[in-house]
Amino acid sequence: MTRWLFGAQLGPWFLPGDDEPVIVIESLAAIRRQRWHRQKLHLLLSAMRHRTAELGDRAISVRAGGYRAGLAETGIAARDISVCEPTSHTARAFVRTLGLATIEPHPGFATSREGFAEWVDGRGERRLLLEDFYRWQRRRLGVLLEPDGEPAGGRWNFDAGNREPPPRGAETLGVAPPHLPTEDDIDAEVREDIDRWTSEGTIGTVGEDGPRWWAATRAEGLAALETFVRDRLPAFGPHEDAMLGADTVMAHSLLSAPMNLGLLHPLEVVREAELAYRSGAAPIASAEGFVRQVLGWREYVWGLYRTFGEGYRSRNALDAREALPVWLDSLDADGEVRAECLRATLRDVRERGWTHHIPRLMVLGNYALQRGIDPAALSSWFQRSFVDGYDWVMLPNVIGMSQWADGGEMATKPYVSGGAYIDRMSDHCGRCPYDPAVRVGDLACPFTAGYWAFLDRHADRFRGNHRMARALAGLARRCDLDAIRAQEAERGTTAP
Ligand SMILES: Cc1cc2nc3c(=O)[nH]c(=O)nc-3n(C[C@H](O)[C@H](O)[C@H](O)COP(=O)(O)OP(=O)(O)OC[C@H]3O[C@@H](n4cnc5c(N)ncnc54)[C@H](O)[C@@H]3O)c2cc1C
Ligand code: SF4
Repeated sequence: MTRWLFGAQLGPWFLPGDDEPVIVIESLAAIRRQRWHRQKLHLLLSAMRHRTAELGDRAISVRAGGYRAGLAETGIAARDISVCEPTSHTARAFVRTLGLATIEPHPGFATSREGFAEWVDGRGERRLLLEDFYRWQRRRLGVLLEPDGEPAGGRWNFDAGNREPPPRGAETLGVAPPHLPTEDDIDAEVREDIDRWTSEGTIGTVGEDGPRWWAATRAEGLAALETFVRDRLPAFGPHEDAMLGADTVMAHSLLSAPMNLGLLHPLEVVREAELAYRSGAAPIASAEGFVRQVLGWREYVWGLYRTFGEGYRSRNALDAREALPVWLDSLDADGEVRAECLRATLRDVRERGWTHHIPRLMVLGNYALQRGIDPAALSSWFQRSFVDGYDWVMLPNVIGMSQWADGGEMATKPYVSGGAYIDRMSDHCGRCPYDPAVRVGDLACPFTAGYWAFLDRHADRFRGNHRMARALAGLARRCDLDAIRAQEAERGTTAP
């Protein structure tokens, strides 16, 4: 049997044994399908080519117009090929049409399809709460548990202490730097190919080129994990939600890209964090905060993607129909955008294809939600612009969590806020031509004015939601609503 590997199936657990032949297909159709961030395309191609090189004589490497043509080119009959189920709905439906010998369950997560379905069934009418799922995971997998089954450190959740603003006056968190890989000949070849395809007009990309930041091999992934756990995990947690203009990565792990490529297994990542706590190298709040992200959030999002199905992509509960503005699509941070939080976030995406979760949620997502940008278009933008973006992780995070387009299935209330939140959690506002406390006029912060305009537009929709009661009471007290409405209607999605 020959195993066919997709580009995000690069770890050893995707291979059935030590000697079967392995097909790796670079599909030009997939490369051309989107205007990818240049560094994302580089990472993906580099990772696939490194894997092919590692597999040596076992690898049957094909560059073809599409997957079907690539398989045909190998000359191997479909009945002799096996594959692990790809993550996206589309690719999964596609492999089913090929008549392959077997489609194995995806081995790269801690939770199987059946396991998550069992958890969902067990909920009955209750909401699919992350917190409950996370505790179920910890108990089931025996992670951060005392011998009596109680949570390590006496609590399941140390989140309350993990929402601190940046340290006052600090420009950076001062945490040791993350592991950065060294590029090699394979990267040079990938760079040449992307340059050539771009100049020939075969593909278009966004974002800057730059030294590869992200692990493209298992060895690089393991080195990144080791450096994170040793040098940075102890600082993970307290400032998880904070943003500093001069410190993009803060104490974040930067492990999403290698995990999503299948180079690191979430369970090994979690075990390393647990080991650091057990050996006294990391406090429980940091270890638990990190485990919550990987064993909780990441697995939850994966399970929800499969539970919600393909139709989830077109959910649009708030009837958001605005087109994606060109300045956002092209990551044109310095050209037109003056709002500092947005400018700095877009700059990071343009330079690295990455920002941590708060700029994604409370700057980019918040802006799109307030301005009524079409959620499906936004989701596709996130996916092509971020190095760790894949359909399975984007749909729940963007459609559900960030844009509330599922009407509250995932998040009880929308993640929307005015400039005061960004001011408290970052050092952006001091460098901004707008003022987070001003609602109307030249200094009016687009997030603050946008917040009130959003609430005003959707007040009826949120009336019965008790978690929105305070916000709506605030709206009722606003006496400058007419001016805000007119101002924000005029601003629309022009670069703020
Ligand atoms: C609008 C929006 C879009 C996002 N898009 C992606 C995406 O395309 N790919 C992606 O991997 N993550 C996505 N996330 C989740 C999260 O922002 C990133 O996983 C994280 O910022 C990656 O950086 P890190 O590895 O340093 O994470 P850390 O802060 O170090 O967290 C550790 C790990 O936890 C996992 N994790 C934490 N939260 C989530 C989550 N909500 N969903 C999935 N995994 C999570 C990631 O694997 C991450 O590597 C998105 C979040 C939002 C709000
Ligand atoms: S004032 Fe408003 S636009 Fe400017 S950085 Fe602060 S929140 Fe962002």
